[in-house]
Amino acid sequence: MSLARRPRPWPDRDSAPWWEAVRRHELLLQRCGGCGVPRFPARAICNRCRSRESAWVPAMGTGRVYSWIVNHQVFLPGMADEVPFAVLMVRLDDADDVFMYGNLVAAGVDDLVPGLPVEAVFVDATGDDGKGFTLVQWRPL
Ligand SMILES: [Zn+2]
Repeated sequence: MSLARRPRPWPDRDSAPWWEAVRRHELLLQRCGGCGVPRFPARAICNRCRSRESAWVPAMGTGRVYSWIVNHQVFLPGMADEVPFAVLMVRLDDADDVFMYGNLVAAGVDDLVPGLPVEAVFVDATGDDGKGFTLVQWRPL
């Protein structure tokens, strides 16, 4: 799989700590300092209790496929050899209402079924600007 020429993540104020952890191959969740509920993606204010306090905690790194799409279109020349590929919506084992997204790896799109157990894998890449980045992707357990 070629990750060269793939659009790189653009961390913002809230997501930068998550992307830095992913670069170290650590999967984190933001946990509210007020009510303790985990959330993803990162945001400054808790939707549940409106607290601005939060901390980063390790995520289990496992979940189940909730939904997916299969992309057949070559939108970027650097990804021509990857189509068709699946983009998963994974319900994390950490909490019922926390989902992460990423590509399916180590399996074909025909292997996908609702509820398929998966685990996070970290895929390092170098963009055509020479800078490294890391993506979270998912493989069946
Ligand atoms: Zn809260």
